[in-house]
Amino acid sequence: MLHPDTPAKCCSYCGGRDHDFEECPKRKADAEKEEAARVAGSKPPLASAWDRR
Ligand SMILES: [Zn+2]
Repeated sequence: MLHPDTPAKCCSYCGGRDHDFEECPKRKADAEKEEAARVAGSKPPLASAWDRR
């Protein structure tokens, strides 16, 4: 039973029906953004903890 109208996949992240949550391009982009921001962010948590002691 394959209906082109029936969404086999439903992204719970952006609501897209042409992909799954794990394949969400938006989620990936957001994750990359977050990681980039974290890397480019102020201080790495490990070095910060080291410096405090
Ligand atoms: Zn999506």
